[in-house]
Amino acid sequence: MVGAGLGGLSAAIHLRRAGYRVTVYERNSRVGGRANRIEHGGFRCDTGPTLLNYPWIFEQLFEAAGRRLGDYVRLLPVDPSVEFRWPDGARFQLSSDMNRLLAECERLDPGSSSSMLDFFQDAAAKFRLSFDKLVTSNETSPLRWIGRLRVREILRTSIWRSLDGELARFFKSRYIREAFGSYGMYLGGSPFELPGVFSILPYGEIAHGLWLPKGGIHALVEAIARIAGETGVEIETDTDVSRIDVAEGRVRGIEFTDGRYREHSIVVSNVDRPSTDRDLLGGAHKSSRKPPKMTPGVMTFYWGVRGRIEGLGHHTIFLPEDYRGAFRDLCQRRRIPSGLPFYAAIPSETDPDLAPAGASTLFVLVPTPLLSEMPGCDWKAAACDVRARVLATLGLDPARIVFEEVWTPEDWSERFGLFDGSAFGASHILRQIGPLRQPNYSPEVGGLYYAGASTTPGTGMPMVALSGRMAAERIVERHGVPEAMGIEDFAHAR
Ligand SMILES: Cc1cc2nc3c(=O)[nH]c(=O)nc-3n(C[C@H](O)[C@H](O)[C@H](O)COP(=O)(O)OP(=O)(O)OC[C@H]3O[C@@H](n4cnc5c(N)ncnc54)[C@H](O)[C@@H]3O)c2cc1C
Repeated sequence: MVGAGLGGLSAAIHLRRAGYRVTVYERNSRVGGRANRIEHGGFRCDTGPTLLNYPWIFEQLFEAAGRRLGDYVRLLPVDPSVEFRWPDGARFQLSSDMNRLLAECERLDPGSSSSMLDFFQDAAAKFRLSFDKLVTSNETSPLRWIGRLRVREILRTSIWRSLDGELARFFKSRYIREAFGSYGMYLGGSPFELPGVFSILPYGEIAHGLWLPKGGIHALVEAIARIAGETGVEIETDTDVSRIDVAEGRVRGIEFTDGRYREHSIVVSNVDRPSTDRDLLGGAHKSSRKPPKMTPGVMTFYWGVRGRIEGLGHHTIFLPEDYRGAFRDLCQRRRIPSGLPFYAAIPSETDPDLAPAGASTLFVLVPTPLLSEMPGCDWKAAACDVRARVLATLGLDPARIVFEEVWTPEDWSERFGLFDGSAFGASHILRQIGPLRQPNYSPEVGGLYYAGASTTPGTGMPMVALSGRMAAERIVERHGVPEAMGIEDFAHAR
């Protein structure tokens, strides 16, 4: 296994459970990939993911390892969950408490609570269809994939409509549409491009809650690495893979940057899929396919702040006056939006232990174009400019910042091998979902598999945890359970 991101750790656990001997090689000294941690002077910042959805997927991962999630990490509910704010002063706060959410809809746009109920009914059906029939199993044939649905169900998916178009069917309020449409940013950039089926994102977050593991997202990662270790997975950190060795169309082993070599007949790469194909497959074995369309990059700011940040809750998304223009800037004009959308999180509001007593941990994420879309950009200078704009919007005196780290798309790319600096991996436009997405196996190289955000089913922590399971299932289906290491051996290893 190359890479100990969440997809890699999940694949490792499932493979081990199936009886394989598994070694994970991770280039960084900490596991978790994008879901990493920065620690300084009592401030603990999660580097990437800060919103945890669909906890049952992680419960299932622990169950696969014969463990209980609750024995390793405590999930704290975050409710009210996310607040959206606009420059004109409008606000919209989400909550899994239906009465509260409906009252908020009425406050923002009188009469919209019934639209919210209609939306919920529709999105709940889409959500069930997606999870029961589309997302959670390996499928290579688009016809068989869509054939799992009855005609009525196909119509329900709204895959031919944009996410924004789908939201417009339910909501007159621009604020509600913009708030829910902005979830598209995590999947491909623009609610005007993504298919309408992704209305399940805001629905899923509200219906199933938003969580923070006690100790931060990285506490969950550490727990997953721990159960991997307990089930017999070996994890070698500070181990940089330079090449996946291929001979006669089959994987033969792995070469490291320090010159070492290990033989392996099956390799799962958790390194971003297009980066694996470009950087780790030597010469003739590089994939002939064009790289996929990627989600945008991000600039991330990690701040330790003196005192509490008054007036801001755990999760806030700031949307600009010209919402459509911001997406046009980002996805078509290829520049950092002039009206800046950004996300701010203060996890210490929910778990005060993430900051020294009385202080706050503040995380800010600003979407940017990809590295190739801003050639010659001085990212450090761009980050200075963005920093000033963000602080002005937050009304935060920079003198209160006692600790700071800033990562640009260059940093994200260098640290974790993210293709073109893309934060969330391959986009989820229509031609890149389900069996149309780059698969979790290599059609060109026998024994090479993929797990993670740029392969199936997609990006986000729950999805990459599923991708690990699906890659393991694919391997077991093709290679069977190794005789030399049956389930009994697995039991002993535990
Ligand atoms: C800023 C940001 C915010 C996000 N917010 C959320 C959120 O709130 N909620 C959510 O659910 N998701 C969020 N995501 C998405 C989520 O983090 C990712 O989808 C998920 O963590 C990706 O996991 P992965 O399995 O693809 O592995 P990755 O995280 O990509 O890990 C790959 C691993 O491979 C290692 N590696 C790379 N090259 C080599 C090599 N040559 N040799 C050895 N090892 C190598 C890397 O160091 C890394 O550890 C966010 C992502 C980012 C960047």
